[in-house]
Amino acid sequence: MSSFVLKGDIAFNETREKIHTIEDGFLVCEDGICKGAFEVLPDEYQNLPVKDFTGKLIVPGMTDLHVHAPQYTFRGIGMDLELLDWLNQHTFPEEAHYKDLEYAKKAYSYFTYDLKRSFSTRAVIFATMHTDATVELMDQLEETGVISYVGRVNMDRNGGVDLQEASAEVSLQETREWLARVNGRYAKTFPILTPRFIPSCSDELMKGLGALSEEMDLRIQSHLSENPSEVAWVKELVPESTCYANAYEIFDTMGNEARPTIMAHCVYSDEKEMEILKKHGAYIAHCSDSNMNLTSGIAPIRKFMDAGIRIGIGTDVAAGSSMNMLKAILNAIQASKMYYRLVDQSVKPLTFEETFYLATEGGGSYFGKVGSFKEGYEFDALVLDDSKMYSMRNLSVRERLERTCYNDADVIISHKYVKGENTFQR
Ligand SMILES: [Zn+2]
Repeated sequence: MSSFVLKGDIAFNETREKIHTIEDGFLVCEDGICKGAFEVLPDEYQNLPVKDFTGKLIVPGMTDLHVHAPQYTFRGIGMDLELLDWLNQHTFPEEAHYKDLEYAKKAYSYFTYDLKRSFSTRAVIFATMHTDATVELMDQLEETGVISYVGRVNMDRNGGVDLQEASAEVSLQETREWLARVNGRYAKTFPILTPRFIPSCSDELMKGLGALSEEMDLRIQSHLSENPSEVAWVKELVPESTCYANAYEIFDTMGNEARPTIMAHCVYSDEKEMEILKKHGAYIAHCSDSNMNLTSGIAPIRKFMDAGIRIGIGTDVAAGSSMNMLKAILNAIQASKMYYRLVDQSVKPLTFEETFYLATEGGGSYFGKVGSFKEGYEFDALVLDDSKMYSMRNLSVRERLERTCYNDADVIISHKYVKGENTFQR
């Protein structure tokens, strides 16, 4: 693996509340690992090649903690619907096409092409219930340089005739076959168990997936407490549960600290659910763009942070309309302001610093030491050209960084590094 130095205007979170910046500084990568950011290049690194990005911003790569690859090509459609209608009218009919491998190949090529060119260096991805198409997606993802988890979706009820597995047994058997096919096949692409959500999965299937997770030491991703009608439906489907999160808990799918489950949304997670999420070391994937588009609501992220729950940001395409993580940062800040103003003034809005942290180190921690330029972190970096974002002021690095999120269309990704590898350059 190569070792080198990047020179430019560096910014990353020192803590959740504080962004550390160095103007015209040096960022050292040794064998894919960050050795730190410096104002003056230390003697021991003087012999390394320096890539000169003077005048450009250098920030940690971002983690998209929740995104649906097969929904990418219809993003921005059906946005006047709420969750369950949107799923039935748009999402399920679209995902049914992925039984056709040629369709999947083409559609996934659009997704992977754009992901490679996005701000994300890591991603946790839903595919569909189709094994061949999911392997195709994973093959394509491996070529993007992005490090990812990918889930073949399990769903044995409420999908209609076209998008539903025949039984829990069939679903579990297909999952095992998929896992056997992808086992050891990739360096950057890993499988994750993916029950779509409780309404899509019978008790038997959920129990089977919980057991499979334990047996094969596999992580799980799913959805939790997104929309009021969904929450009410889960209570009907699993009447013995004390809350939606408890329904996952009953089936042993909430994971643990070392094998954390990702739960997207958590808009309606109350104290009881927060306790369960915290107890299991679960991650919340905060998807505020999606939550606004489908009129789901606003997740109280400040409360989750105060409770010590692990959180990252997801774009949730296609309920989220874009894979752009800078836009996701902006949406999260704006949503938190509306929560503070309209719902509860004891819950302070998210600051730019805190939200940038969630998009980098917050979600990145799901992959280990990822999302920071502190010493020992895996070297994921974005070199951003913000020169087209004109200003009459002499801006600080911190101000320029904030502006990139508010004017993301004017920012160009110049270079992208994942674990020290230059995976994309303009
Ligand atoms: Zn989702």
